[in-house]
Order: sequence, then C-alpha cells, then structure tokens
Amino acid sequence: MTSLLRLSPGELDETLTALGAPRYRADQVLQGLYRRGLDSLDAITQLPGELRDRMREGGLALESPAVLREVASDDGETTKALLALPGGATVETVLMQYPQADRHPRSTVCVSTQAGCAMGCVFCATGQMGFERNIPAEDIVAQVLHFQRLLAPRSEHVTNVVFMGMGEPLANYDETIRAVRLLTDPRAFGLAQRAVTVSTVGIPRAIDRLAGEDLQVGLAISLHAPDDALRRRLVPTARPNSVRELLEAGRRYFRATGRRVSIEYALIEGVNDAPEQAHALGRLLRGAGMHVNLIPLNPTAGPFAAPSRHRVRDFRRILTEAGVNATVRIEKGAEIAAACGQLRTDSDAASAAGSAEAPAQG
Ligand code: SF4
Repeated sequence: MTSLLRLSPGELDETLTALGAPRYRADQVLQGLYRRGLDSLDAITQLPGELRDRMREGGLALESPAVLREVASDDGETTKALLALPGGATVETVLMQYPQADRHPRSTVCVSTQAGCAMGCVFCATGQMGFERNIPAEDIVAQVLHFQRLLAPRSEHVTNVVFMGMGEPLANYDETIRAVRLLTDPRAFGLAQRAVTVSTVGIPRAIDRLAGEDLQVGLAISLHAPDDALRRRLVPTARPNSVRELLEAGRRYFRATGRRVSIEYALIEGVNDAPEQAHALGRLLRGAGMHVNLIPLNPTAGPFAAPSRHRVRDFRRILTEAGVNATVRIEKGAEIAAACGQLRTDSDAASAAGSAEAPAQG
C-alpha cells in the first residue's frame, strides 16, 4: 500500500489520472489531507465512492497515527505526543507554542525522523536506545498533521517545523527531503521553506547534498564541543569528521542558500561549560556569521547535569565578547526537549512534561 501522504502533488496527479480520474480530483484529495485534516480515505467525501474504491484497489491508503499518550506542560504551551505511526514505528513528537502579541501563537512542531538513533551521543537517551528504524516521509508528515488537527479547532495552525526530534534527519536523507518538500509544497501542506529547520549532529557530505537541493530551509548543527577530542567523547560517531570540517560544511551551506546556520550547544556541567571552552568556541566561530543556541541540559538526564545559571550566563557573555551571537534557548516551562542533543529517559520526560509518563526523545 502507498500512503496518500507520501505522494507529491505531481505524483498524485499522475496516479489519479492513471486511474481515470480528472485532474481536479487530485486537488480535492490534497485539500482533504492538508487543509481539512481528514484522516481516512472514506472521510474524503468529495470523491465519488467508486473512485475511492479504485484508489484502494490501486494500493492507495490513508491512515493516521494512533495516539498512545499525550501530555501537556502546565502552561499549556508544550504538548508531547507518543504516536504509533502507520508504518509501524513509535515516536515522540512535540508541539511548542510561543505567544505573540495580537497574533496567533507561533506553533512549532518538532518531528522525529528515526525511531532510536545510531549517532550514540552519550548524553542522549535516544542515542543510548540504538537505532531501530527510519521513519518514512509520510509518517514524518503525519506527525505534523496530528498537531494541525489539534490546533484547527482553536483557529490556530502549525507555523514552523523543526527536524530535531528523535534521530538524525540526514541519516534518513531521502525521506527527510521528501517530507520537507511535502510540507513546503503550496499544493500540499504549504509552509514557507524558511519556516522549516533541519538539525544535524554533523554529516558534512549530507550537508553539502542538502545545500544543493534548492531549498531555503534553515540548518542547525549540533556541535556540543569546541574541539575534536571532547566532541568525539560526546558524539562518538563524529570520529571521522572534525569540528572544522563540520563548520566548513556549514559555511558552504550558507554560501549556497543564504540561510544563516545555527550552532546548537548542549551545555553540560563540568564537561563542556568551562570558560576556556567558551573562549575556544568563540575563537572557532568568530566571523563565521553563525548563531549559537546554548541549551542547558536537562539535569535529570543520566549522569550529566545542567550548569548553574551563572555559569550559563558567563559562557554566553564570553561568546558575545568574542563577537559571536549567542542566546540561551528558552526552555518551555523547564520541560520538553526540543533540540537534537537534549535527552529524555521515560521518567525524565514525564517529569519534564509536568504530567504523566512520556517516552524518550533525542
Ligand atoms: S542527540 Fe540527536 S543525533 Fe545524538 S543520539 Fe540523540 S537523537 Fe541521535
């Protein structure tokens, strides 16, 4: 079976034409999927029943994720869902809302691209799970549509998507790109390309490939260390790629796309938060035009803890004085991990969400 959420509008045109349907039927399907949030083929009642039958016989399907658990933060601005995806994987997906004056809130969905992760970052529960499977594009899109359905009754909508959930998006490259194209195609989900960010722990070859896709998506590189020795300890799979190679790939991405690259740096007490490390990071990034997001690690994550506030402040000040733009990521209610590099075990995530249990997230 092929999910309707997998097909680009052009592929859907071809598929329905091959089934003998006129072209406008594809637009009706696309509106049903992406505007009206319909979650089964039978719900697309604009289509004649016999066409729906032919579509099913032709191997087309539309299934929705099953919601195994959903938890919201106390302020209601962050919601985590544990979804059993039609393709068989179970992943966690997060909605983060940011109130805006006189406007609907910015509503960002953080999607997972893999169940588990092969990158093995030592401070990440997802990494410790090991790799289970890649998530196909339709199931990445389904995560966004899940939250779109949640928001629609409030006349709100998903405004941004970040590929920062479980897994390394560039290690599931083709499905990630297919999902990005579906989410940004004006005939499909229709987000602006600039509203999408792909986060990677660092595969320079894949970053170069992404730069050649003619997409305007943002790129976030999870660096976590200013030197190779420490980075190889924290991100063991980074071994073949040096920090400099990774940053060079980031510069090439900026030159090719004009999109500023952000550097994600999970601050871990006593590991990568020392003033000398801030100075080293400042020297490395000075003049690179990259923005640093400092993410104090959730203190409940394994043997690692977040630095004190003043240590975080000092780290940022040193970067700023070195001419490097840096912000401390606002943790939504001190709870839900949004970035690659933040980890959650089941119980950590539960307490983080200020509610019942929740699963791991990278
Ligand atoms: S931090 Fe991201 S890349 Fe690293 S193991 Fe976790 S999910 Fe994978």
